[in-house]
Amino acid sequence: MSRALYMGDSYLKEWDTKVKSVKDGKFVVLEDTAFYPTSGGQPHDEGTITLEDGEPVKVIYVGKFGDAVSHQVEPENVLKPGDTVHCKIDWDKRYRLMRMHTAAHIFMQVIHNATGALATGGQLGLEKSRIDFSLDDYEPEKFKGYIEKANDVIQQDLKISAIFTTREEAMKVPGFTKLAKGLSPDITDVRMLSIGDFDTQADGGTHVKSTIEIGRLIFLGAENKGKGRKRAKYTIEP
Ligand SMILES: [Zn+2]
Repeated sequence: MSRALYMGDSYLKEWDTKVKSVKDGKFVVLEDTAFYPTSGGQPHDEGTITLEDGEPVKVIYVGKFGDAVSHQVEPENVLKPGDTVHCKIDWDKRYRLMRMHTAAHIFMQVIHNATGALATGGQLGLEKSRIDFSLDDYEPEKFKGYIEKANDVIQQDLKISAIFTTREEAMKVPGFTKLAKGLSPDITDVRMLSIGDFDTQADGGTHVKSTIEIGRLIFLGAENKGKGRKRAKYTIEP
């Protein structure tokens, strides 16, 4: 599988490529794609795939199946294997998710620094996002404080960068993952994402270039989901 284009450049919005395969007239695999598939708690991209002199075909779902990223399109039976196409991402949706996602990193690292907790789950959304932490005590007021700390970090305008390395090298970095489940065993080629010198961790998602792009984080509340699982909900300013 070729490395997804969004891994090298999260800001790539349009590109030309070829259709590799089509299943049932509507599940399209491209030679190169920057469409982000639903994964890691981040919803899939939407957008269009257009034939030369053709009407745009809508991308309504993007998923990862084995090694392939599959794009579900509408209408069906327009795209054929070998077609040259122009692809375009719905940038408003993606960019807001990039801001939400980068905010999640900072929030997680603030809590990790303060308590040692890891993230046991989470879901990003356009309106609101949530993260579950391996915390025993339920203290909503503390979450509020961590959000304010995260806002201080955001204001520092830290630059975000990524390098590729081996799994072995990645595992030498302290705190190389903030996920309780650890690094998926099938990942050998690891992308290490750094937010200034505040945080470095393994990550295959899409991020903004600088923390200042996130804007202000807003605390929306907490929930006690049981032993070792406390949920924090947040959003970002429009
Ligand atoms: Zn990330």
